[in-house]
Amino acid sequence: MRYCILDNTPKHLYSLYMEISGLQEKISILSGAAKYDASCATSGSSGFTGKKKFGASVPSGVCHSWTEDGRCVSLLKVLYSNVCKYDCAYCVNRSSADIKRSSFTVKELVELTGEFYRRNYIEGLFLSSGIFSDPDIVMEKLIETARSLRTDSGFGGYIHLKIIPGTGEKLIKEAGLWADRLSANIELPTDKSLQCLAPQKSGKTILGAMNDFSGISREMEETQRKIRFLPNGKTRAQFFAPAGQSTQLIVGATEEDDRQIINLSSSLYNKFSLKRVYYSAFIHPGSYVRRENRYDPRLPESAGPPLVREHRLYQADWLLRFYHFSAGEILSEEEPFLDAHIDPKTAWALKNLDFFPVEVNRADYETLLRIPGIGAKTARRIIETRRSRSLNLENLQRLGGILKRARYFLTAGGSYIERPDDPARIRRMLSDTDGAGLQLPLFEF
Ligand code: SF4
Repeated sequence: MRYCILDNTPKHLYSLYMEISGLQEKISILSGAAKYDASCATSGSSGFTGKKKFGASVPSGVCHSWTEDGRCVSLLKVLYSNVCKYDCAYCVNRSSADIKRSSFTVKELVELTGEFYRRNYIEGLFLSSGIFSDPDIVMEKLIETARSLRTDSGFGGYIHLKIIPGTGEKLIKEAGLWADRLSANIELPTDKSLQCLAPQKSGKTILGAMNDFSGISREMEETQRKIRFLPNGKTRAQFFAPAGQSTQLIVGATEEDDRQIINLSSSLYNKFSLKRVYYSAFIHPGSYVRRENRYDPRLPESAGPPLVREHRLYQADWLLRFYHFSAGEILSEEEPFLDAHIDPKTAWALKNLDFFPVEVNRADYETLLRIPGIGAKTARRIIETRRSRSLNLENLQRLGGILKRARYFLTAGGSYIERPDDPARIRRMLSDTDGAGLQLPLFEF
C-alpha cells in the first residue's frame, strides 16, 4: 500500500482510535478511490497562512507519494464519498463497478486533516467526491469541510477542492473563499468523447464552471484592489482561490491526437487563465475492479498507461506556458503526435535548423529560450552575465550544464562547439532512448 500515512507509523493512540472507529478502512477506500485524479499539486499560495493559524503551503507544499505506475499522489488525497450515480466508463468509482463503497462525514475529515497535519504526515488536503446526490449537495459537503477546517480548526495549510460537475456559480464562489485551488476536470479532449464515455457529463457544463471561476476571480480581484485603497485601510476583501484553477485531461482513453490535446490546453490557458492542465495517462479501470464485467467495448484495450505520451505532453505544455511557443509550432496536421524519442523543444529545433545557430552574445531572451537545453534560469543568467563581459564557450559552460543539448544550436563570439551538419546524428545523440543514455558504437566514423 502506497499511502504511508498510517503504514509507516508506530501504533499510537490516534491510530488505535482510527482502527476502532473504522476510519482506517475509510481512508484506505477513499484515498485509493482518489488516486487516479492527477489534478493536484500545491502552488505555494500564501492566501490562508497567518499568525494565529497552523499550517502553511508556501515552504514545501503538499507531501506526495509515488505510486507503482509512476504517478504522484499527495498524502491526504481523498474522496468525500466514492458512492457515485454517474457511470463514466474510465472510472473505478462508476456506479456499475462492484467495489466497496464508503463516505466520510465532515467532522471526520476535519479531524483527520488536522491530526495528520500536526503529525507532519501531510501538508494539505485534496478533496473530491463521487456524485452521490445532487451536484450542489455534494459540493456543499466539500465546502463545509473546507469552511470548518478554516474557521473551527484555524487550518492555514493548502486546500484543493474539486468542482463537482453541475455545481452552480454561487457555490463555486463560496468554495473559492475557503480553498487555495479549485479544479473542474475536463476529462476528455472533445465533447464527442465525453458523450461516449461519460454520457452524464457535458463539456458545456465543465467549461461553464471554468468560466464562472474566471469571472468570479476577476470580480474579486477588482473588489480587492478597490478596497485596498479605502481611506481607513482596514477592510480587506476575502481571498478567492489564490492558487487559481486547474483541470485534468485523460490521455489515451479516446482516439484524439496530441495536437487536439495541446490545442485544447492552449485555449484553456488563454480563455480561463488556468494554472495547470494535468495529463493523466489512461489506466484501464478493469484492472482495478473485482468481479466487474471487465470488457467495455467503448474503451481501448490497453497494455498499460501511456506514460511516455503523458510525459511528452507535460513537456509540450511547459513550452506553451513558459517558453512562448504556440500550439501550432509544436504540432502540425502532418505530424499530430509528439515524438516519443526526443523532447518537443529539440524536435522543433531539428525541424527549424535555419533558425540556428543563436549567437548568445546578441540574442534576446525569447530567442535564447528556443535553444534546446537552455531554460528560463540559464537564459536570464546569460543576459545578466553579458552585461559586464562577452561570453565565450568556456564561460558559457560555467553557467550550467547546458551544453550537452545546446552545443549544436548556439555560437559564442561566432564559435560553434559542434556544427549541426548531420541532423540524423544529432537526433540520435539527443534521443532519450537511442542517444546519450546508451553505449555508443566503438567505431563510429
Ligand atoms: S462522476 Fe464519473 S469520474 Fe467522477 S467519480 Fe463518478 S463515475 Fe467517477
